[in-house]
Amino acid sequence: MANALTTYHSKRDFKKTPEPKGRVARARKQPRFVVQKHRASTLHYDFRLEADGVLKSWAVPKGPPRTAAEKRLAVPTEDHPLSYVDFEGAIPAGEYGAGTVEVWDTGTYENLTEKDGKPVPPGRAIRAGHIAFALNGNRLRARYALTRVGKDGKRGRWLLVKMKR
Ligand code: MN
Repeated sequence: MANALTTYHSKRDFKKTPEPKGRVARARKQPRFVVQKHRASTLHYDFRLEADGVLKSWAVPKGPPRTAAEKRLAVPTEDHPLSYVDFEGAIPAGEYGAGTVEVWDTGTYENLTEKDGKPVPPGRAIRAGHIAFALNGNRLRARYALTRVGKDGKRGRWLLVKMKR
Protein backbone atom coordinates (compact mmCIF):
# COMPACT_ATOMS: atom_id res chain seq x y z
CA MET A 1 0.00 0.00 0.00
CA ALA A 2 1.31 3.43 -0.87
CA ASN A 3 2.27 5.63 2.06
CA ALA A 4 4.73 8.40 2.86
CA LEU A 5 7.65 5.96 2.61
CA THR A 6 6.78 4.37 -0.75
CA THR A 7 9.41 6.43 -2.58
CA TYR A 8 12.03 5.76 0.10
CA HIS A 9 11.39 2.01 -0.14
CA SER A 10 11.32 1.96 -3.95
CA LYS A 11 14.81 3.47 -4.20
CA ARG A 12 16.51 0.92 -1.99
CA ASP A 13 17.31 -2.79 -1.88
CA PHE A 14 17.24 -3.62 1.82
CA LYS A 15 19.11 -6.86 1.19
CA LYS A 16 22.07 -4.73 0.14
CA THR A 17 21.92 -1.44 2.05
CA PRO A 18 22.34 -1.27 5.84
CA GLU A 19 19.79 1.56 5.97
CA PRO A 20 16.61 0.89 8.01
CA LYS A 21 13.45 -0.14 6.18
CA GLY A 22 11.31 1.58 8.81
CA ARG A 23 7.64 2.43 8.72
CA VAL A 24 5.40 5.40 9.28
CA ALA A 25 5.27 6.07 13.02
CA ARG A 26 2.83 7.72 15.37
CA ALA A 27 3.23 11.37 16.32
CA ARG A 28 5.43 12.11 19.34
CA LYS A 29 5.38 15.01 21.77
CA GLN A 30 8.99 15.97 21.20
CA PRO A 31 9.65 15.80 17.49
CA ARG A 32 13.21 15.04 16.50
CA PHE A 33 15.60 16.30 13.89
CA VAL A 34 18.85 15.03 12.48
CA VAL A 35 21.56 16.39 10.23
CA GLN A 36 23.51 13.62 8.53
CA LYS A 37 26.79 14.25 6.77
CA HIS A 38 26.55 12.17 3.60
CA ARG A 39 29.69 11.55 1.61
CA ALA A 40 27.97 10.37 -1.57
CA SER A 41 28.92 11.23 -5.16
CA THR A 42 28.94 14.78 -3.79
CA LEU A 43 29.29 15.66 -0.12
CA HIS A 44 26.11 17.11 1.34
CA TYR A 45 24.20 17.35 4.58
CA ASP A 46 20.79 15.72 4.86
CA PHE A 47 18.51 17.79 7.05
CA ARG A 48 15.52 15.91 8.45
CA LEU A 49 12.59 17.03 10.60
CA GLU A 50 10.08 14.65 12.15
CA ALA A 51 6.55 15.39 10.92
CA ASP A 52 3.53 13.18 10.24
CA GLY A 53 5.34 10.06 11.48
CA VAL A 54 8.26 10.31 9.08
CA LEU A 55 11.40 12.39 8.62
CA LYS A 56 10.75 15.16 6.11
CA SER A 57 14.07 15.54 4.31
CA TRP A 58 16.15 18.06 2.41
CA ALA A 59 19.67 17.80 0.99
CA VAL A 60 21.67 20.87 1.97
CA PRO A 61 24.86 20.98 -0.13
CA LYS A 62 26.68 23.45 2.15
CA GLY A 63 25.18 22.35 5.47
CA PRO A 64 23.20 24.44 7.96
CA PRO A 65 23.91 28.19 7.98
CA ARG A 66 26.15 29.44 10.79
CA THR A 67 24.92 33.01 10.74
CA ALA A 68 21.69 34.83 9.93
CA ALA A 69 23.36 36.27 6.84
CA GLU A 70 23.79 32.91 5.10
CA LYS A 71 20.95 31.38 3.12
CA ARG A 72 21.46 27.74 2.31
CA LEU A 73 19.87 25.93 -0.60
CA ALA A 74 17.85 22.92 0.59
CA VAL A 75 16.62 20.46 -2.02
CA PRO A 76 13.66 18.31 -0.91
CA THR A 77 14.25 14.56 -0.97
CA GLU A 78 11.99 11.65 -0.17
CA ASP A 79 10.52 11.16 3.30
CA HIS A 80 12.65 8.84 5.44
CA PRO A 81 11.48 6.59 8.30
CA LEU A 82 11.89 7.86 11.86
CA SER A 83 14.33 5.02 12.49
CA TYR A 84 16.73 6.77 10.10
CA VAL A 85 17.31 9.41 12.80
CA ASP A 86 20.33 7.56 14.20
CA PHE A 87 21.47 5.78 11.05
CA GLU A 88 25.18 5.80 10.39
CA GLY A 89 27.02 3.51 8.05
CA ALA A 90 28.24 2.78 4.57
CA ILE A 91 25.78 2.39 1.71
CA PRO A 92 27.41 -0.03 -0.75
CA ALA A 93 28.64 1.03 -4.19
CA GLY A 94 25.91 0.75 -6.78
CA GLU A 95 23.12 1.36 -4.27
CA TYR A 96 21.08 4.56 -4.03
CA GLY A 97 23.06 7.18 -2.10
CA ALA A 98 26.22 5.03 -2.09
CA GLY A 99 28.78 6.42 0.36
CA THR A 100 29.07 7.01 4.08
CA VAL A 101 26.51 8.56 6.39
CA GLU A 102 27.32 9.99 9.80
CA VAL A 103 25.12 11.82 12.28
CA TRP A 104 26.46 15.39 12.35
CA ASP A 105 23.87 16.63 14.83
CA THR A 106 20.60 15.45 16.31
CA GLY A 107 18.12 16.38 19.00
CA THR A 108 14.59 17.68 19.29
CA TYR A 109 12.94 20.70 17.78
CA GLU A 110 10.15 23.04 18.71
CA ASN A 111 7.80 24.02 15.91
CA LEU A 112 7.38 27.82 15.90
CA THR A 113 5.23 28.15 12.79
CA GLU A 114 2.20 30.38 13.16
CA LYS A 115 -0.40 31.76 10.83
CA ASP A 116 -2.71 34.57 11.93
CA GLY A 117 -1.38 34.10 15.46
CA LYS A 118 -2.29 30.40 15.59
CA PRO A 119 0.16 27.49 15.65
CA VAL A 120 0.47 25.48 12.43
CA PRO A 121 1.37 21.79 12.85
CA PRO A 122 4.72 20.82 11.26
CA GLY A 123 3.31 18.59 8.50
CA ARG A 124 0.86 21.24 7.40
CA ALA A 125 3.53 23.95 7.61
CA ILE A 126 5.85 21.96 5.32
CA ARG A 127 3.07 21.28 2.82
CA ALA A 128 2.36 25.02 2.78
CA GLY A 129 6.04 25.74 2.08
CA HIS A 130 7.21 27.39 5.30
CA ILE A 131 8.22 26.04 8.70
CA ALA A 132 9.97 27.91 11.52
CA PHE A 133 11.54 25.95 14.35
CA ALA A 134 14.01 26.03 17.23
CA LEU A 135 16.60 23.26 17.16
CA ASN A 136 17.74 21.74 20.41
CA GLY A 137 20.78 19.80 19.26
CA ASN A 138 24.38 19.52 20.30
CA ARG A 139 25.80 21.77 17.60
CA LEU A 140 22.65 23.53 16.50
CA ARG A 141 20.82 25.46 19.20
CA ALA A 142 19.01 28.30 17.49
CA ARG A 143 15.97 29.23 15.48
CA TYR A 144 15.80 28.41 11.80
CA ALA A 145 13.27 28.50 9.00
CA LEU A 146 12.83 26.48 5.85
CA THR A 147 10.93 28.21 3.06
CA ARG A 148 10.02 27.06 -0.42
CA VAL A 149 11.20 29.49 -3.07
CA GLY A 150 10.33 29.33 -6.75
CA LYS A 151 9.65 26.20 -8.71
CA ASP A 152 12.17 23.63 -9.80
CA GLY A 153 10.15 20.64 -10.85
CA LYS A 154 7.04 20.06 -8.80
CA ARG A 155 8.67 20.08 -5.37
CA GLY A 156 10.42 23.44 -5.60
CA ARG A 157 13.65 24.66 -4.07
CA TRP A 158 13.86 25.67 -0.44
CA LEU A 159 16.11 27.95 1.57
CA LEU A 160 17.32 27.13 5.08
CA VAL A 161 18.01 30.27 7.09
CA LYS A 162 19.06 30.97 10.64
CA MET A 163 16.94 33.57 12.39
CA LYS A 164 18.54 36.58 14.03
CA ARG A 165 17.54 35.49 17.51
MN1 MN B 1 21.90 12.22 1.12
